Amino acid sequence: AAGPVARLSSLSDIAMPVMAHRASQHKHQRGRLCVLAGGPGATSAARLSAEAGLAMGAGLVTLLCPPASLIESTQISAPVMTRPVREADFADTLAAHRASALVMGPGAGADQRLKERVLAALRAGTPLVLDADALTVFEDAPAALFAALHPGAVLTPHAGEFERLFPGVLNESATPLVAAQQASARAGAVIVLKGPATVIAPPSGEAHINACASARLATAGTGDVLAGMIGGLMAQGIAPFAAAVSTVWLHGQAGFLLPPGGNAGDLVRCIPAVLSAALDEQSR
Ligand code: AMP
Ligand code: MG
Repeated sequence: AAGPVARLSSLSDIAMPVMAHRASQHKHQRGRLCVLAGGPGATSAARLSAEAGLAMGAGLVTLLCPPASLIESTQISAPVMTRPVREADFADTLAAHRASALVMGPGAGADQRLKERVLAALRAGTPLVLDADALTVFEDAPAALFAALHPGAVLTPHAGEFERLFPGVLNESATPLVAAQQASARAGAVIVLKGPATVIAPPSGEAHINACASARLATAGTGDVLAGMIGGLMAQGIAPFAAAVSTVWLHGQAGFLLPPGGNAGDLVRCIPAVLSAALDEQSR
């Protein structure tokens, strides 16, 4: 189902989604992003995603965490709320927080409970980004994930995570682009296959590839930032494919602002500059 392919090489190649900031809006109308955090010792990835979602303009960002990591999850300088997950049914948690988008996977811990929570979130229909452990946890049964996915889902695997869900597809395909297109058709969701040249492929067959990203991004936590950025846009009502394409571009550009040795936390602080440049350009 291969459709048109666009190579991203300048800001004009992406249609920057309009983030409507009407004067009458309050924070609850600017998107409510929830990010699932991991247990004790595994909350930093989700904290990065949460900060990144906030930096992309989400009005209210909440870290949902196991009660045992509540204190640790609050160790975040950004204005992010932290709430323990107590309900047995994760869908009830999402409803209680009125999540307009959700990020699951970074540091979440690839266990049976995560699997159940991903499936519950998919049943609830909340627009979501699945990354890292939320992908790995379906390694033994990818078909169960594919059956539950909907067009409001974005999957952000790196090559290793991609191989776990789509064994052999990367090797058998001529290029990562073709592999991502096949995977997207099979999964029925937007696939963001990350790497030095990231492919964004929706089930409709068209695809974008971005080779214009800084190699400084090859450091821990930058993928968690990407997932949070996409979630931050989706929380504001931006469609999954548009959110993924513009985020991949902005994330790659933010990487160019990183100093040598810059880390994923520094990357979050580079988001406002690239985002405002993109929005200025768009309004010209
Ligand atoms: P992860 O593998 O989940 O930590 O995500 C790493 C992020 O950094 C992804 O967005 C990759 O596309 C990006 N990245 C990793 N290595 C490079 C590289 N050499 N050049 C450009 N981007 C990279
Ligand atoms: Mg990652």
